[in-house]
This record gives sequence, structure tokens and C-alpha cells, in this order.
Amino acid sequence: MNRKPATWPLDRRTFLQGAAVLAGTALLSHRLGSSATAAEPLSEVFSLPPLPYAEDALAPHISSDTVRFHYGKHHKGYIDKLNQAIQGTSFVGLPLPEIIKQSAGRNEFRGIFNNAAQVWNHTFYWQSLKPKSGPPEDRMAQKIVTQFGGIEPFKKEFAAAAGNQFGSGWAWLAQSGDGSLSIVTTANAENPLTRDLIPLFTLDVWEHAYYLDYQNRRGDYLTACLDHLINWEFAAANLIR
Ligand code: MN
Repeated sequence: MNRKPATWPLDRRTFLQGAAVLAGTALLSHRLGSSATAAEPLSEVFSLPPLPYAEDALAPHISSDTVRFHYGKHHKGYIDKLNQAIQGTSFVGLPLPEIIKQSAGRNEFRGIFNNAAQVWNHTFYWQSLKPKSGPPEDRMAQKIVTQFGGIEPFKKEFAAAAGNQFGSGWAWLAQSGDGSLSIVTTANAENPLTRDLIPLFTLDVWEHAYYLDYQNRRGDYLTACLDHLINWEFAAANLIR
């Protein structure tokens, strides 16, 4: 089966196909399995998409050491485990959001769900950040003001929610179908896709995201990201209304 590789960064249409409809183009490019031979059916596997910036581009707020391990070991590890887990199953060849949707909440597919969702979450996380970001503009800024009373109250509320997420997980700014924004936290690999919410940006609050740079000070990591690294253009491009 031929599948058009998604480009990096994801364009708005590709993202919406994935997030809103949970269908459409795979978020990660596929390539043919290197072990496939003419005698075997061809298998498709996921590969690690390139980072949208250099490993040291987020420093000093997130160090190149953190990015190198987080991207090169953790993110890649989820991809490798996902490829192993789906081998020989009916999930082979499905777009990533479809794998997430079909495995969510099903105990027998927990390993597949965890790795598929972590692959998706990390790809989304790298795009949610950018070096030397500015404040949100125009439509996005107006929505933040309307929903949270301003950018500073928003950042405070987001940091509090993300800081209070017990254990490993993620914090998200998300949009509902009615257009309203909300701050959502999810545990472990969970994400808003399975809650009919549109993610706008995310911050990873697993310890591996910040421990090398901040040790136990999750709040300092969150503040640094919110003040310096949020890719508001990406968040705005994800708005559905
Ligand atoms: Mn992570």
C-alpha cells in the first residue's frame, strides 16, 4: 500500500485529519520494513521524524542533553516498541491516530496504545515548542483573553494544572467543538484525542522531560516553557474555529 509521507512540520490539514477526525494521513512517514522480502507480505513501520530545530535550539530552557535523550532515546524507543508490538497484527499499515483510536481503553492492546499514543504525543510536543517564542497573536491571543482573562492568568492556570498532574503525564491546551478552550491534563500516554478534544499544544510532564535540567523542580521547567518556548503559531494553526 502506498502512503504519502506526512511532511514535518505537520501542516494544518494533516493535523486536523489526525486530531479531529482521527483518520487520514499518518502523522509519521512510513517506510517499507527492511526485512520484507518478495515472499513475505510487505510490512510498514513507523520511523522517527526529524526534530523541527537543532538539539541545542531550546537551550538554556531545555538543554541539548535533555533533547538528545528525550528525542533520541525516549521518543525513538516508543517508535521501536510500537513497531515491534504491531508486528503481525491488524494494526500494521494503519495511520497512527487510527491505531490510537482502535486500541484505546482495550486491555489486550494496552502496550500498543501506550506506545502509539506516546509516539503521537512526542511528535506533537516537539512541534509545540520553538526557540525564542513570542506571545500569542491576534485570534489566539483574543481566545486566551476571553477564556482565561489574559496571557498571564492563563500561564498561571496552566502551570498549576501541569504541576498538579500526579506522576507521569501531559498538560494540554485544547479546544472543544463549541470553540471554547480548556486546560487538560492526562496520565501516562493518554491524550485528548480520545476525549473528542482538539489539542492546540502540549507540555510533557514526565520526569525525563525536565529532570536533567531541573531535577525535581517541575514548576521551573513549566514556567520556562510557558515564558520562552511555546509555539503559539502552531497552537493557533490547530484551532478549528
Ligand atoms: Mn517524554
